[in-house]
Amino acid sequence: MGWRVLPALAIGSALRIGMDTSPAPRPRHQKKDVEKALRYAEQRGWTITVVHSGHLWGTAACGRGCEMSIHSTPENQGNHAKRLRRKVDQCPHDDRARRR
Ligand SMILES: [Zn+2]
Repeated sequence: MGWRVLPALAIGSALRIGMDTSPAPRPRHQKKDVEKALRYAEQRGWTITVVHSGHLWGTAACGRGCEMSIHSTPENQGNHAKRLRRKVDQCPHDDRARRR
């Protein structure tokens, strides 16, 4: 797990390479529901990539295939957060050994 800031064009390849963590704290999402969902994902080993490109805030990925775009200003932050949590919960790649 971890986070990183990347130019938008580098996202796809960086996710595939599986770049490692950064020592600095991850920037917070300004919508608290979304931020909570991002932490939920991180606690389950997901990697958050911060992009800040237009309406795209970043991406969340389990690292084994699941990925979701995080919007900077979702029309409904509650729904956006819920969708991310559901995606995390439904990840078929969950490896319980990786959990803390
Ligand atoms: Zn997955």
